[in-house]
Amino acid sequence: MTHLTLQAVTKRFNAAYAVDHVDLSVPDGKLVCFLGPSGCGKTTLLRMIAGLETPSSGSVTFAGRDITHLPANQRDFGMVFQSLALFPHMSVAENIAYPLRLRKTAKAAQGRRVTELLELIQLPHMANRPVTQLSGGQRQRVAIARAIASSPKLLLLDEPLSALDAKLREAMQVEIRLLQQRLGITTIMVTHDQREAMTMADEIVVMEKGRIAQVGKPLDIYRNPVSEFVADFIGLGNILPVTLDGRGGVTLPGGQQIVVANPAWVPESTADIRLLIRPEDVCVKHVTTDSYPNHLAGTVTFIRDVGATLEATIDCAGFTLTAATTQRETPGLTLGMPVLAELPAQACKLIAARPLQ
Ligand code: ATP
Repeated sequence: MTHLTLQAVTKRFNAAYAVDHVDLSVPDGKLVCFLGPSGCGKTTLLRMIAGLETPSSGSVTFAGRDITHLPANQRDFGMVFQSLALFPHMSVAENIAYPLRLRKTAKAAQGRRVTELLELIQLPHMANRPVTQLSGGQRQRVAIARAIASSPKLLLLDEPLSALDAKLREAMQVEIRLLQQRLGITTIMVTHDQREAMTMADEIVVMEKGRIAQVGKPLDIYRNPVSEFVADFIGLGNILPVTLDGRGGVTLPGGQQIVVANPAWVPESTADIRLLIRPEDVCVKHVTTDSYPNHLAGTVTFIRDVGATLEATIDCAGFTLTAATTQRETPGLTLGMPVLAELPAQACKLIAARPLQ
């Protein structure tokens, strides 16, 4: 069942399009991430769903009802902003109870709900503590508890983790995801962090210049990006300009020729083509005298060994490749070493270079 539907939603600020004809269906109970670079319109789109911004044109429908012009306070949605916007003069429990007070929920019911939520966010012992005395992660949990206190039908999160350090941020990503799944609450989260979107989302909406560049499950987008922009934004990738050789293969920038298996996309013009291969798909091998297809001669010019993974940069005369491997898989790599980089045909994707018009 689709809960939220956007139809040709557009927002202009003066003559500039912040959001440009966005069509989207958000399924019930799922976590959807709006992902894209700064200024691509993620927050404006979220604010139109929240009712904090009115679309210039298009419609927003929720559970079958047109809510395009419904004021924010009548939408029954929970929101958490980047700033969290907790009330500093109130305790943890008072902050969580605030939306219930606004709705004039009976005192006893407020108390029960606050107790339940404090258990849920694992802070029952901190009910009476001022929020100013909490850690970043604890404040985060309180903001989420407050947003879901009145059991909203939709939870909207605008970069809620951006103020946290890397480790806490990763822990909170898992925590929010588990909470969202346990409650089954339809959630939309804005982020510009592709790792965060990959970790948390059922579906990612990649945005580019106010438009949707691609919608899909995280791994589908990672494996089958529709354009160079999406390929570059989602994960690390080797993206090389290539030309078709007319025999089912491509010519690389250094003149080397390789085979690409079953290209999903057939380019119209040779000028528009890029070859994408993810670093984990590049196999680094020691040089042999035999020659095999799709094996390129190169030299190791940089090694980043962080224990769990080993990243090697390989200069292939005409371009460089990044390969992600491990010490175990590829022992004995050293700087300046001649190697063969295998680009397996089935891991090579052809994509369109052209940006959105
Ligand atoms: P960020 O990740 O930096 O928050 P974003 O993807 O959320 O970016 P938006 O904040 O939605 O992007 O902004 C999209 C575009 O609309 C930007 O060019 C921005 O300058 C413009 N914009 C947003 N709000 C307003 C406003 N109130 N008045 C004029 N222009 C605005």
